[in-house]
Amino acid sequence: MAGATPAVAARRRVRGVVFDMDGTLTVPVIDFQYMRQRVGVGPTGDILDIISSWPAEEQQRAHQAILEIEEQALRDMQAMPGLLELCSHLDDSGIPRGLITRNVLRSVHYFHEHHLPVPPFLPAISRECEFPYKPSPAALLHICNTWGIAPEECIMVGDSAKDDVVCGNRAGAVTVLLDTEGRYTDASQLTGECKPTFAVSSLTEFLGLLRNQFELLPPVGQQQREQQQEQEQQEQQQAA
Ligand SMILES: [Mg+2]
Repeated sequence: MAGATPAVAARRRVRGVVFDMDGTLTVPVIDFQYMRQRVGVGPTGDILDIISSWPAEEQQRAHQAILEIEEQALRDMQAMPGLLELCSHLDDSGIPRGLITRNVLRSVHYFHEHHLPVPPFLPAISRECEFPYKPSPAALLHICNTWGIAPEECIMVGDSAKDDVVCGNRAGAVTVLLDTEGRYTDASQLTGECKPTFAVSSLTEFLGLLRNQFELLPPVGQQQREQQQEQEQQEQQQAA
């Protein structure tokens, strides 16, 4: 899906990359179908939305069941192959990397502590944070704002079309679907807001995509951006 390598001048600028965690930075171990069965949610609809519509006692039971599955997933956690090389390339290029997960902060800490021998993903936004969870673009827009970059200068990478790709598309970011298990061979699943800009089958393929299709530029400071815009306006006025 990556296509031919464009000339450097034609490459799209990227100043930040935001990742999903489970199934993206880590090997998929959570069986979401089992999670739905265990909690008592049918096959369709957002599991967290459905639970939040239930009476308090039922919500507590459902969240406890989810936590138990996530605890087991912590014990089974493995870093996704290619993760370290990808992080090192981004760090060497001065490109910030963040994380947005529907999982809890404890899992994020565990991942950082046990599976990431390089600096943590920052910001790392989890289920407890004040933002509505993915597919809402709110957390992604917040990260872009924190970095002082436009959403279109950001790539959102994740293994879920309905959560990660929709979140990225709603924010106006470049979207990359990571499909390590061949879950999306049926292209009809990827239409409308679920359609990613690119699809890759590994983090190594994503690294190749970054190298070949994008120009990686560190974020420009907010002040420098404003000065740049002012200068461009003055130049436009002089040219008029
Ligand atoms: Mg995921």
